[in-house]
Amino acid sequence: MEKKTIEKLQRLLGEQNVLTRKVDLVAYSYDATPDIARQIPDVVVMPNRAEEVAEIVKLAAGNNFVIYPRGAGTNLSGGTVPLKKGVVISFQRMNRIIEVDLENLTATVQPGVVIQDLINAVSPHGLLYAPDPATVATATIGGSVAECSGGLRGLKYGVTKHYVMGMEVVLSDGSICRFGGKTVKNVTAYDFASLFVGSEGTLGIVTEIIVKLIPAPKFRRSMLALFKDIEDAGNAVTGIIKNQVIPATLEIMDKATLETVEAYAKVGLPTNVDGLLLIEVDGMCQQAVDIEAEAVSKVIVQNRGELKIASSDQERDKLWAARRAALPALAQLSPTTVLEDATVPRNKITDMIKAVREIASKYNLKIGTFGHAGDGNLHPTIITDARNKEEMERVHKAVDEIFEAALRLGGTLSGEHGIGVAKIRYLKDEIGQSGLNMMRRIKQAFDPNNIFNPGKLIPTEEN
Ligand SMILES: Cc1cc2nc3c(=O)[nH]c(=O)nc-3n(C[C@H](O)[C@H](O)[C@H](O)COP(=O)(O)OP(=O)(O)OC[C@H]3O[C@@H](n4cnc5c(N)ncnc54)[C@H](O)[C@@H]3O)c2cc1C
Repeated sequence: MEKKTIEKLQRLLGEQNVLTRKVDLVAYSYDATPDIARQIPDVVVMPNRAEEVAEIVKLAAGNNFVIYPRGAGTNLSGGTVPLKKGVVISFQRMNRIIEVDLENLTATVQPGVVIQDLINAVSPHGLLYAPDPATVATATIGGSVAECSGGLRGLKYGVTKHYVMGMEVVLSDGSICRFGGKTVKNVTAYDFASLFVGSEGTLGIVTEIIVKLIPAPKFRRSMLALFKDIEDAGNAVTGIIKNQVIPATLEIMDKATLETVEAYAKVGLPTNVDGLLLIEVDGMCQQAVDIEAEAVSKVIVQNRGELKIASSDQERDKLWAARRAALPALAQLSPTTVLEDATVPRNKITDMIKAVREIASKYNLKIGTFGHAGDGNLHPTIITDARNKEEMERVHKAVDEIFEAALRLGGTLSGEHGIGVAKIRYLKDEIGQSGLNMMRRIKQAFDPNNIFNPGKLIPTEEN
């Protein structure tokens, strides 16, 4: 990048908010995604408000550089890697909760707000912002909007797209635009706010978000169901939903995962079973929670499971800490962890678990499987070493087959981690050539010069 362009950015934002030293830039060359190439950006900038973002976008258009927006960098699809160098916009200074509106039950936030900080801010009012990815303590609202993140509560309470009511965005010509708002109903124009949710930073820069808040449930019960055969656990998931009980959370862990979690976190999980379900039912009154817990318990027993109920808040917190530790625990087994999020209809969970097991055995790989079973969202996690070329070839073949299996079962390539660069070559398998053409036309309309997050989500001819 030309020196005079960097100087313009420094004049705009202040020198301290423009990083140019290699030692600083390296930290922005990668994100949480394993097994993809790193790239060091030319510059990292840290704006403080939408008008500054708009000026950066105008500079990009006039000076021919590209822009990579970045929240906390926890995405698992290479979404923030600056493939073509250029400028990374970090939102760490745009981290203000602008308003919690107790009359409309909304919050207005800047994109750099950490999700847990919003949850903590609304909880004293008896309110909940429900989307809670396992990275809730570090990931930002901006990043989670761009990925349409899910989380442990997704089954009952939905995912990010169900909470975004409006937003402010900077478009590719540098204009600042508002879509949606605080009204529960809004059918004016296309639903642009929804289009931006899950757009992975490819259409524009989100500078403010209005989210819905809901009354926090007052009662809950957490249960652990142990199974000698994980296929019974999969069938129990389908059975619970078929019985018309929607738990707040319904998570699965296979033997490989729970043995590793137990060795890592020592929370007292049994290791002599083939798989377990972590279940939480909640509600506004004790009686409703009791009825749902009873129905869940029946389904577990029908599927040869053994049920344990958390007897205290401490025991409950331990269980959820164990679930959140699943990926970090698996990750410490080996230098590289390839985590997928293929997702299937909920009645196909058992078929997907079987398919992953067969693929693991066919390619002689260690694959731990855990995930949001109630959403049909499994995380087959391959424990490997990127330096071992021969093994990585097997890993790539296994990943291809995991996606094939998910699509064959009527599922999707990604339930919550997005396409980014990691899954770009599979996209056509799911949406077809017409779908791809439409994606390209939408991108062209919003970002004709391809300055926003180029190389992500929308395959070019080379992909
Ligand atoms: C251990 C682990 C567990 C995880 N568990 C879950 C889970 O349970 N559920 C789940 O859904 N995900 C999960 N993830 C993935 C990840 O944490 C989420 O996608 C998260 O919401 C990303 O937030 P972030 O702030 O880190 O975004 P980043 O990774 O920084 O960015 C994500 C995308 O958003 C874009 N972006 C960021 N800010 C803006 C903006 N202001 N405007 C436009 N585009 C922007 C970026 O360009 C990028 O494409 C997990 C990841 C890890 C490492």
